Amino acid sequence: MRKDISVPQQTKAILDKYGFTFKKSLGQNFLIDKNILTNIVAQAELTEESGAIEIGPGIGALTEHIARNAKKVVAFEIDQRLLPILQDTLSPYGNTEVIHSDILKADVKAVIEEKFEKGQDIMVVANLPYYVTTPIIMKLLTENLPIRGIVCMIQKEVADRLAAKPGTKDYNSLSIAVQYYATAETVIKVPKTVFVPQPNVDSSVIRLILRDEPAVKVKDEAFFFEVVRGSFAQRRKTLWNNLLSGVIPKERKADLETVLNEIGIDPKRRGETLTVEEFGKLSDALLHLVK
Ligand code: SAM
Repeated sequence: MRKDISVPQQTKAILDKYGFTFKKSLGQNFLIDKNILTNIVAQAELTEESGAIEIGPGIGALTEHIARNAKKVVAFEIDQRLLPILQDTLSPYGNTEVIHSDILKADVKAVIEEKFEKGQDIMVVANLPYYVTTPIIMKLLTENLPIRGIVCMIQKEVADRLAAKPGTKDYNSLSIAVQYYATAETVIKVPKTVFVPQPNVDSSVIRLILRDEPAVKVKDEAFFFEVVRGSFAQRRKTLWNNLLSGVIPKERKADLETVLNEIGIDPKRRGETLTVEEFGKLSDALLHLVK
């Protein structure tokens, strides 16, 4: 029986065998702690019928744990140097497949259609490269993919923002963008010591479960996000000032006052105090001022 890939001596042996050197620019920090790996996979609540998508398998430490708990794992890896290594380390797991691709350029929907069964439970499970965390998460949330959710390790500060509740210091337009599509919770806090090389930042595992319908039904999605972004444009400014500095034309000032009055939102509030539902109500009520 081979040792787990994540056992530190085993990871070192694999890296030495292939003379692999880490590329910081690709966010390469590999996991060397079995407990964390077991815990990440547990958070995905996979069954033996589940499919899993991994982003950035590295040398396969997490892939192997997912493969033991799912029917099939398809992993996207950008770094060509890792392909022969993965072929070796994942050889005991016939239910794994590695695709050499930048996840941001991949047609994930087509891959799901090709590699998984129709209606199969699919989760994304990953220790994400930190330099592209947000674009990857937003791609997965907005492409209307047939996935149940995402369990991923990310930088702690980003996780705090994604899961932040209204009125907290971490709540911003990204919190709303994510929570519009999914429920978000931080499920594991992770020390730097479980990685090689150790990153400079602390990490958290976040679990996003996709909603059947967006958190709020709005008339115009693009305008909803415009209002959200505009309301956070300058954190210290009131909603009133932010809306008049880019979202609503200044000549519609009087109409803006009427609308806010009608929907019962105090113009002196700051964007960070509004719930997703309030932003929905606000953008619907403002729509006629810009169209
Ligand atoms: N899963 C492994 C582990 O936990 O030990 C490695 C995780 S490491 C934080 C991130 C991985 O993502 C690396 O293998 C890196 O080469 C890969 N990667 C970086 N950018 C990527 C991209 N745009 N698309 C796919 N993989 C990427």
